[in-house]
Amino acid sequence: MGKGKLYIETYGCQMNFADSEVVAAILSPEYDIVDNVKDADVILVNTCSIRDNAEQRVFNRLNELTNLKNKKKHLQIGILGCMAERLKDDLFQKSNVDLIVGPDAYRMLPEILKSEISPIDVQLSQTETYKEIIPFKYEGNGVSAFVSIMRGCNNFCSYCVVPYTRGRERSREIDSILNEIQHLVNDGYKEVTLLGQNVNSYHFEDYNFATLMQIVAEKFSTTRIRFATSHPKDLSDELLEVMAKYNNICKSIHLPAQSGSTAMLKRMNRKYSREDYLNRIASIKKHLPDCAISTDLIAGFCDETEEEYQATLSLMKEVGFDFAYMFKYSMREGTAAHKHMQDNIPEEIKIKRLEEIIALQQELSHISNKKDVGKSMEVLVEGPSKRNKNQYFGRNSQNKVVIFDKGNCQKGDFVMVKITACTAATLLGELL
Ligand code: SF4
Repeated sequence: MGKGKLYIETYGCQMNFADSEVVAAILSPEYDIVDNVKDADVILVNTCSIRDNAEQRVFNRLNELTNLKNKKKHLQIGILGCMAERLKDDLFQKSNVDLIVGPDAYRMLPEILKSEISPIDVQLSQTETYKEIIPFKYEGNGVSAFVSIMRGCNNFCSYCVVPYTRGRERSREIDSILNEIQHLVNDGYKEVTLLGQNVNSYHFEDYNFATLMQIVAEKFSTTRIRFATSHPKDLSDELLEVMAKYNNICKSIHLPAQSGSTAMLKRMNRKYSREDYLNRIASIKKHLPDCAISTDLIAGFCDETEEEYQATLSLMKEVGFDFAYMFKYSMREGTAAHKHMQDNIPEEIKIKRLEEIIALQQELSHISNKKDVGKSMEVLVEGPSKRNKNQYFGRNSQNKVVIFDKGNCQKGDFVMVKITACTAATLLGELL
């Protein structure tokens, strides 16, 4: 009998995309990946619970997908990821799916799909890191890849559902990380991003995140190294020193602030104050003067006063973030905020505050990009620009998108580009 056909659709963060590649590897002996959902015998939807509208999107999509069962009786549809973990067997009532598998149970998928065991497995693990599984890269640009170095989170920020859907924090063995990167390098990848919910708390035997980065940077000296995501309370000077020492470690740090108000940060259980955050920013600027700093910000968390909201705006100006992911607060069931606080900021105020935060960040991003006009910089070519086939797009060390005319270079090349103009989102340049 030939192999079955598997279609995977992924929502949410980079961890989910990395997990979908693990799932593809686990199922590769029995299934070929297809890129048209209509060809599939099995459809797996890897889901995100971070905000209510992320879940609603998945429910809408499941309605469309489950209609395909009318034409194909043997079609199996499964829900993976955070919604599987959060909603568990409620999902059987809410949608016409066949299996529900949480983030730590993907090894069971072959047996579940053969109906040899229960169609639901949402058991979380203290130890699972899928360490020896080499993810199957079925999509992506073939140039840059994610490598998961840890799973779960122990921080319990009061707004966040992740510790409940992804379980306790655990770090992956260093040799298995190096082995995966070696595979990627052998396959021609030029950039890897080490991934975890809080990479700065990586620890395995005597290694911490700084020593892991040093080992990776030395062993793969022609590969660009990035990481995400950092927690401000754990970002060490030791790491910044390692970043300064190695040219192949990209000069870009994503450091989620969430708010600029110490009182608000306390309610969010972030475990740092505004001053602590600014102290980390000062240390980044001291060790890495050319480092881009990006962040996450939430508008309208429980009890947010006008003064607290203004503190977020003033923090943004003080740091001068190069980029930000900005959201309005959405209460998630089961979190500390859901149990002990009230989602009491009116929707129109949340929207107004978010719009103002976005507008300010647009200005800050534009200011940051204007400073690059006239500079020459190394860019890793990722592929053709979406808007113009005669142009390439790539990223510089600071993770900014750079667009330029193709010339003689190819996808995967490191090239020098002189920046001639910019928008708030993009640098435009000429190949040197
Ligand atoms: S650090 Fe906080 S926001 Fe990030 S995943 Fe953990 S609990 Fe969620």
